[in-house]
Amino acid sequence: MSTKAKFQAIRGTRDLLPPETALWNSVEQTAHEVFGRFGYGEIRVPIFEPTDLFARAVGGNTDIVSKEMYSFPDPPIWLEILEKVGTIKDVDRTENTFSIKDNLSNRSFMAEILSLRPEATASVCRAYIENNMQQLPQPVKLYYLGPMFRRERPQKGRYRQFYQIGAEVLGGTDAPTIDAELLEMLMSFFAKLNLSGTTLDINSIGHSADNCRRGYVAKLKSELEKVKDKLGSDSQRRIDTNPLRVLDSKLEHEQPIIANLPKIADHLCDDCRAHYTEVKRHLDLRGVKYRENWRLVRGLDYYMRTTFEIIAQGLGSQNAVCGGGRYDGLVELLGGPPTKGIGFAIGEDRLILSLLEAGQSPQAASRSELIYIAWMGQNAYTTAIRAAQTLRAAGFRVELPPVELKFGKALERADKLGARHALILGDNELASGEWTLKTLADGSQQKLTAQALLEYLRKL
Ligand code: ATP
Ligand code: MG
Repeated sequence: MSTKAKFQAIRGTRDLLPPETALWNSVEQTAHEVFGRFGYGEIRVPIFEPTDLFARAVGGNTDIVSKEMYSFPDPPIWLEILEKVGTIKDVDRTENTFSIKDNLSNRSFMAEILSLRPEATASVCRAYIENNMQQLPQPVKLYYLGPMFRRERPQKGRYRQFYQIGAEVLGGTDAPTIDAELLEMLMSFFAKLNLSGTTLDINSIGHSADNCRRGYVAKLKSELEKVKDKLGSDSQRRIDTNPLRVLDSKLEHEQPIIANLPKIADHLCDDCRAHYTEVKRHLDLRGVKYRENWRLVRGLDYYMRTTFEIIAQGLGSQNAVCGGGRYDGLVELLGGPPTKGIGFAIGEDRLILSLLEAGQSPQAASRSELIYIAWMGQNAYTTAIRAAQTLRAAGFRVELPPVELKFGKALERADKLGARHALILGDNELASGEWTLKTLADGSQQKLTAQALLEYLRKL
């Protein structure tokens, strides 16, 4: 590699930098607090899992599994091959290209196919089963946060590495109160963040039975066949692979056609309809505002009954900040006992974008006052170290310049860093035992003992 080669973050990934990371932290802190108060505990699951877990849970026909996953063989098969055929001994893992010359036809190599997680619900369900959480008091309420990976076309609000904050309620009852409380928690999280203008869309997509969703999908499919010629190629393809997804289409010319399709609400079985009615009643009881959206279907296979999405402002076409729903069959599908389940995933990147669009400043999230210590002379530096320790212990942010600066230069630097006050320590201050505190905005100064200084700063 040439010494001039520049490294760049991989397409669809990006660095999160200060001061914006302060906003990320405060959002995450709010999630810990709000979810904690609703009795949820944090779970941390691995970043990669067997591909099969996602294929089974999310569904082989979904975009996520069929084309967006980062999958790789473990062990990395090309290295294995090179080593086993002896083409190369002690493979140099820093090489970026290799060619394989040997005939490999009669050798076989076993490898497990793994994937970077595109979402976390499948992993949480796997963890529930693997850790025998069905033996805990039910339901088990868990939340998570962290990066997810999908190979999508990058654009504003859509990345290949993005972050989700999510929660799952597993086991016990499927009482509509569970759905309602989950949504109440979600909306109070957004309220706590002062994210205004979010709307909660809800729907019920019933359960997989002939007298419920399956019957509806069959009817939908036959209606779609009738208007097939008028639909775009994506929708045409979906008539066979995933007809519900046609309802999700944003294409202008398909809208009037979709408006006339049969609606799932008219095809729910009695139990699913009653469940949906109760969910809405319990949302009302909690004062949670929502909008019914019969076209809301969600792209993942595992959902049933309650589905929902939250739309935020200022995000253009990538305006969904949260999606979720009930998935009662999923744990069983993954080899566990029959288990009720419901959950959501918030897109943290989009949430942050929306907060920034709404004018929340990242600085506001970085709590405490910054004090800049302008020191002159080695004796003053010794005092400056002590002052920095005292102030930091009292919770202030302190900038202590590592090398001596001229007075004017130091104040300029203090201003640039956003300090409102500079603590001046020079020969005079050492002699008098009183420190000078300068207010940068108006240039006023006052002399204070260390104790008086702390008291003064605390009152700011
Ligand atoms: P979309 O329709 O926007 O692609 P989705 O239905 O694929 O969303 P989910 O799988 O339900 O999304 O994930 C929940 C949330 O995660 C979404 O509402 C969104 O906020 C966020 N999200 C999903 N994919 C991405 C991505 N590639 N980049 C950033 N955020 C994402
Ligand atoms: Mg998507």
